[in-house]
Amino acid sequence: MAKGKFPVEKLQSIETPFYYYDVELLRQTLRTINDEAGKHEGFVVHYAVKANANPRILRIIREAGLGADCVSGGEIEASVKAGFPAGKIVYAGVGKSDWEINTGLDNDIFCFNVESIPELEVINELAASKGKIARVAFRLNPNVGAHTHANITTGLAENKFGIAMRDMLTVIAEADKLTNVKFVGLHFHIGSQILDMGDFEALCNRVNELQDELERHRIRVEHINVGGGLGIDYEHPNRLAIPDFKDYFNTYAKKLKLRNGQTLHFELGRAVVAQCGSLITRTLYIKEGAQKKFAIVDAGFTDLIRPALYQAYHKIENVTSEEPNETYDVVGPICESTDVFAKQIDLNRTHRGDLLAIRSAGAYGEIMASQYNCRRLPIGYMSDDL
Ligand SMILES: *Cc1c(COP(=O)(O)O)cnc(C)c1O
Repeated sequence: MAKGKFPVEKLQSIETPFYYYDVELLRQTLRTINDEAGKHEGFVVHYAVKANANPRILRIIREAGLGADCVSGGEIEASVKAGFPAGKIVYAGVGKSDWEINTGLDNDIFCFNVESIPELEVINELAASKGKIARVAFRLNPNVGAHTHANITTGLAENKFGIAMRDMLTVIAEADKLTNVKFVGLHFHIGSQILDMGDFEALCNRVNELQDELERHRIRVEHINVGGGLGIDYEHPNRLAIPDFKDYFNTYAKKLKLRNGQTLHFELGRAVVAQCGSLITRTLYIKEGAQKKFAIVDAGFTDLIRPALYQAYHKIENVTSEEPNETYDVVGPICESTDVFAKQIDLNRTHRGDLLAIRSAGAYGEIMASQYNCRRLPIGYMSDDL
């Protein structure tokens, strides 16, 4: 069983639980993204800040030249603080409050991805009171399914996100009538942890149909934004540390018919940061239950909620033991039965004090931490600093 490369001695001296980020892997991942997207004219990549807003991570991603895709006023502030140019910040979200819209306006962000007519009217009003013109794209619900966990599909007609396709022409006409918004593009996002390129192809086909319809009405669109959603390999974080960005961008290059001068925007979150992060936790006790053995660790779902929230799988490794494998349930200390990281998995024989690495935790890990049970929030450490 190949383990990740961890500086075990250094990790031993840090108070657990904490996140450990392999900065070199993050930089390699960003280089691959830039190389592969750079092969296609007009492709622009944004990072979906909600996956991980650790200031150090944001800074590294900004240095690589990606834009920022935000879903809240707080994320706009975090992006600006990390140095993302306002002209590379986009803002989506089904429920934008007034202060959040104002934050976007005050910073002159590139574009608001608008999800309803009432929202469009509020943006117009707030922009007018500042004497500004807000660039807007409409987020359309493409009614395209994704082969992923039901809780993380977003592009089906039943989901709360986006504007129905049949209303596309109506909302564009509405924007035309308003003086303080400018229609610049269409936005889509069909879900997360998508590994089947066929799902992205289905989105491309939908976008092509919608573009044909716009052309029939002589409506020009500068920007097409296809969101994010590219998945990662949770089973093999060592073997497949960098997602197949080549295949991903090629799929769009082949299937989506960009019109002259159009820019194609992507908003990748998980695929950028998931594999570089691990949650490091210390084994507190080995408890021999009536039917099984529990490894009770000091991290809980307050540190990493994905297993409890979506039954997500994370590979777990004992980075301090080379002893023969035994089977464990790895559980946290929180007073909830869902506080379980894995059931019946093989680990090198584990003792009190051993460090476990819960892998592929760089996305939707640290950022989703809570203080339930009055627990401390986990700290994120960069490999560069150790
Ligand atoms: C969450 C989200 C993303 C990023 O999704 P990933 O699966 O992490 O790539 C992109 N765009 C929007 C609008 C989102 O809500």
